[in-house]
Amino acid sequence: MNARRTDLLELTPEALIALANAGFVKRAQKDVAEGNLPAIEEGEDGAIRATYADGHSTVLAPNSTLRDASCTCPASGLCRHRVTLVLAYQAQAQAHPESEPADDSGPWSPSHFAATMAETIPASTLAQAMKLAAAQPVVKLIAWQEAAPVPGARLPMCNVRFFSRSSLTHARCDCKEGSGCAHVVLAVWAFEQAEKKSPGFAEASVTLANAQAGGAPAAARLFDTQAAATLLERTHALALQVWLDGSSQPMLALEARFEEVFALAARLGWCWIGESLHGMKDLMLAQHARSSRFDPKMLLSALAGLHARLAAAVLVDGQAAAGELPEVPASQLLGIGVKGEVALDHLRLVSLGAQLWADDEAEGALLVFADPDTLAVTVIDRSWPKPKAGEPGMAIKSRRIAGQPVERLAASQVVTNGARRRANGALEIAAGARQTNVLPLSPRAWDDLMAPLRQASAVGLRDYLLNAVPDFARPLQAIEHMHIVPVARVGEWEWNAARQTLSAWLEVGEAGERLLLRKHHNPAAPHAIDALASALSGESGAPTAVSGTVTLEAGLVVIEPFAILTEQRAVVPDVETAASRGLAPAMLLHEPPALVELVNQGHALLARWMRQGLRHQAAGALQEAAELAAALERNGLAAAAGLLREAVTLMQAPEKQPLPGKLATLYLLLAEVARSA
Ligand SMILES: [Zn+2]
Ligand SMILES: [Zn+2]
Repeated sequence: MNARRTDLLELTPEALIALANAGFVKRAQKDVAEGNLPAIEEGEDGAIRATYADGHSTVLAPNSTLRDASCTCPASGLCRHRVTLVLAYQAQAQAHPESEPADDSGPWSPSHFAATMAETIPASTLAQAMKLAAAQPVVKLIAWQEAAPVPGARLPMCNVRFFSRSSLTHARCDCKEGSGCAHVVLAVWAFEQAEKKSPGFAEASVTLANAQAGGAPAAARLFDTQAAATLLERTHALALQVWLDGSSQPMLALEARFEEVFALAARLGWCWIGESLHGMKDLMLAQHARSSRFDPKMLLSALAGLHARLAAAVLVDGQAAAGELPEVPASQLLGIGVKGEVALDHLRLVSLGAQLWADDEAEGALLVFADPDTLAVTVIDRSWPKPKAGEPGMAIKSRRIAGQPVERLAASQVVTNGARRRANGALEIAAGARQTNVLPLSPRAWDDLMAPLRQASAVGLRDYLLNAVPDFARPLQAIEHMHIVPVARVGEWEWNAARQTLSAWLEVGEAGERLLLRKHHNPAAPHAIDALASALSGESGAPTAVSGTVTLEAGLVVIEPFAILTEQRAVVPDVETAASRGLAPAMLLHEPPALVELVNQGHALLARWMRQGLRHQAAGALQEAAELAAALERNGLAAAAGLLREAVTLMQAPEKQPLPGKLATLYLLLAEVARSA
């Protein structure tokens, strides 16, 4: 037999799992290994017919997805026959090596599908893709790599992966359609555009050019409308009021202002601006409720990020009007055309861990998952009112989401048909447990998660973070900078009682490369530090990988752990029950460089001003700012010193309009110094 269906020969078990599911693939592999093979016939047109001993037969036509294959068994959609057909076909081709082995090992790009899409994709789908392309979405591309041979594209709302180099049929999208959708077309166009600009790229971010949309006319200036001008002005006034009267002022005083800007952002369809404003309000509410997850730096960062996003959008909107094509168009910075929510098809999720939190009135859990098919990171963020005095309490980790206790879901692999994802990656799983299967997270569960989520070395992760687009220029995500790194060895670690912080050196990748793991005590998760210490000491076997949010401190990668995989099991410190243990006393494992300390002082000063309000700062605060400005200048940070002095002058001036902008710029400048100092 001469195997012509190279597209089927290319499908690896991983690809089949993504296109079908692990259960069918395992079962089919077992059947093939045991020689339970169907009779395979290959038609002239390339259609494959498999006839099984159980009497059923399956036909997979050319250009047909596995799901669209026909089978005589009662299962609609997928069944083991459809999956076994592919493996049996591969087994048969292997047994007859006279067929030319396909060269399927070298680099390739999905861009080559562009030329034939007019024939293989229905006109209605192409038309839909052109409509989507007219909004000039930014598409993040990951090219073929030897270690990660599945090219992928992240669109604003969904993710596409190309499992076959010879057929677009096996490209998988995580939207409800699953394959053959307009997103696949957009992804191919994006690869085509990126290959033209920088052939052989490894990763790229592409603003889909208007030419792809058949030369649609250039968009009108976004900031020319009255609604846009009002939104800019009112957002600025809101920020000024927060700065002048402080984030501790009663929320009632800001309620009307927030409502007005929410409504304006919704009317304009500026999704990321609306999300940022909601995020800002949520942080202020968290501060008022004394939430364990409130950190004044988060609110500072939200205020600065919103300002920077709007300022960048105004700038590139002007550039576009002047006929330049900016790297990232204003529509992307603002989140225009981002769909609010999508229903997801047959979603497989691998837990990356969780964090618990509590405040005066409520408590909750933030669970983080990765989709191994698309590498998208999603979160489930759930809260419950705290039991009132006298009511029986319940541990947060015992509360249930989608029928599952938090502690189980936080360390699991989930397969569900009942999920909906919001634009920022927040996930809702329907309570109908029938649609949702939960398995414990195995010690190898993260093996098929690839770059950029999983980074093989500390240096690689550092470079990735240094080259990343700033947060304010990216789609807004419910959780930022979540990564996985392999752990080669746990180095020294310590508990700092004064700072209530556990720190540990982790060796990652090449010998000597290391990063710092750091976790603060969290009153909502009383056993977390003990559980983490137990995992680091190897009580569940040596740690093999850690997941968490990462930041850079003077070029050093610092990871705040959400979960640790050990040789024996997954440890999610926040939901563990661990015996209290003696912790190694502090020995000053790591002192940040002086410049980082100086930046921390600057951020602490800004955070205090923001909480208390600039109006309420006495002469002492101004004196402190003057001394800090002098110190910044002595350390070569003249621009930051200048901004701080300007802010102090403005605080005493009658006209305080420029303050939010100056303070935002100062915050971001200091943050950048701390990252790369
Ligand atoms: Zn079947
Ligand atoms: Zn799609």
